[in-house]
Amino acid sequence: MTKPASSSADLPSNASSGRAKTTPAPGDRRPATDADQADRSADSSRPEVVFLGTGTSVGVPAIGCDCPVCRSSDPKNKRTRCAIVFRLPDGDLLVDTPPDLRTQLLREDIGLIHAIMFTHEHADHLFGLDDVRLFPFRLHAPVPIYCQQQVDERIRKSFDYAFSDRVETHPGSKPRLELRRITHDRFEALGVPVTPIPMLHGPHFEVLGFRIGDFAYCTDTNGIPDASMELLQGLDTLVIGALRYKPHPTHFTVDQAIEVSSELSPKRTLLTHIGHDLDHGPTNESLPPGIELAYDGLRVPLVGL
Ligand SMILES: [Zn+2]
Ligand SMILES: [Zn+2]
Ligand SMILES: [Zn+2]
Repeated sequence: MTKPASSSADLPSNASSGRAKTTPAPGDRRPATDADQADRSADSSRPEVVFLGTGTSVGVPAIGCDCPVCRSSDPKNKRTRCAIVFRLPDGDLLVDTPPDLRTQLLREDIGLIHAIMFTHEHADHLFGLDDVRLFPFRLHAPVPIYCQQQVDERIRKSFDYAFSDRVETHPGSKPRLELRRITHDRFEALGVPVTPIPMLHGPHFEVLGFRIGDFAYCTDTNGIPDASMELLQGLDTLVIGALRYKPHPTHFTVDQAIEVSSELSPKRTLLTHIGHDLDHGPTNESLPPGIELAYDGLRVPLVGL
């Protein structure tokens, strides 16, 4: 019989030793550990937001596609699946765990994630969750995951091995996850207030955007109710999903995203969840002032904390 994926963790032998002896409470303010210090040493730019991925669900290039964008040599046309990291004073808060998570964190030299929050449970935002398996060794605790009920249920179904009662064969044989239910109410993560932004994602899905300080991340939506628009006033940076020019049943088009941006008037608007219809350079030239396509690896300052 094939062994389940949960038995295949191959962790470095020193992963659980040689670190600070403190037992932090993830999600709360806590003293920095040696691991944190090591992770932050190359980074004096906190607080900031790092774009891990900016592509639509199949990524760009799409497998087997010969279109000019998928064949482009412009690195900004290489888009992995969507996620960002808030690099906060007390640690790194990841939004979504796309299938590309491992390569994204390696690429950005982010060695530790202290907490995760989910926009919704679609596969392109969730199925890299197993990649967080290493972090509890350095946190000395499970990774706290902030999510709504429907995401919680999807995680328990799709990653059932992480919640099994079976005795672990070896440390790290399954991811240690601590699900913390959120609603539409404000909550605190890593010592920072987070405002959920309820949004529509086609006819069947309600998703969350998140606002921290004057930065809001609103991917995978094609409708923002008035009450949520109120929560997006006075932004420095609005990140909003914009799949392509042609209409789509569950995502904003470029023009619809521009419309939302002009209603909210943030200082800067960055479009994400981008498909292969949009060529980075030419599209950017055609966008109104203050609106740009995001790209993988983009870092922006986080203000208003
Ligand atoms: Zn998506
Ligand atoms: Zn293509
Ligand atoms: Zn989605």
